[in-house]
Amino acid sequence: MYHSVDHFDEDPHLVTVSPQRFEGQLAWLRARGLRGVSVRELLEAQDAGRARGLVGLTFDDGYADFATRAVPALVRFGFGATVFVVSGRIGSHNAWDDGPRKPLMSVEQLRKAAAAGMEIASHGRYHVSLPGTSGTELREELEESRAHLEDIAEAPVTGFAYPYGHATAREVEAVRAAGYDYACDIVPERPGRHALPRTYIGERDRRLRLRAKLARHELRRRSRV
Ligand SMILES: [Zn+2]
Repeated sequence: MYHSVDHFDEDPHLVTVSPQRFEGQLAWLRARGLRGVSVRELLEAQDAGRARGLVGLTFDDGYADFATRAVPALVRFGFGATVFVVSGRIGSHNAWDDGPRKPLMSVEQLRKAAAAGMEIASHGRYHVSLPGTSGTELREELEESRAHLEDIAEAPVTGFAYPYGHATAREVEAVRAAGYDYACDIVPERPGRHALPRTYIGERDRRLRLRAKLARHELRRRSRV
């Protein structure tokens, strides 16, 4: 689970990985015979029993640096990824966050990322914590964001990521009912296809920490079946 790939001076919420470190992490995966793919591709491969060697890479929030920094590096490695976009903030900035302002991808950048083979998925309309929403608002967050992103990507949008990783049984059921094929959480209480666990990757993650995180993620993933 990544958010932003860029140079930075301050990063209080630890959401940014420098371009150099990011390349190092991709190179680390490749050196171990692993390939980064979108969550959609990972699940399709898993359903077909051929997910060995694949690692799902996700980018939350849809920062402009996904288009300018992450995608070119991913393409160079022949990797794919999923970007979870805040549909009501496209072309704007991370207004929900009290950290440094970061620009979000424009419609044009989103289309280019899709054309480069990246999966466009939903992170809701306004990046609100879903457990606090009314039934109507929850439906709108899920359904409107999806319709809007499908218009832009001109392709089905089948994935969702819970803002802040906040999800109770109600949100998980609503995401399923809205027709999403899968949803990403962070550390779900009850893991499943609509509450997939993810592992945070940051600037401090080099070889040893990556190895430990990969092993821990494997354990978490296996313990749910
Ligand atoms: Zn987010």
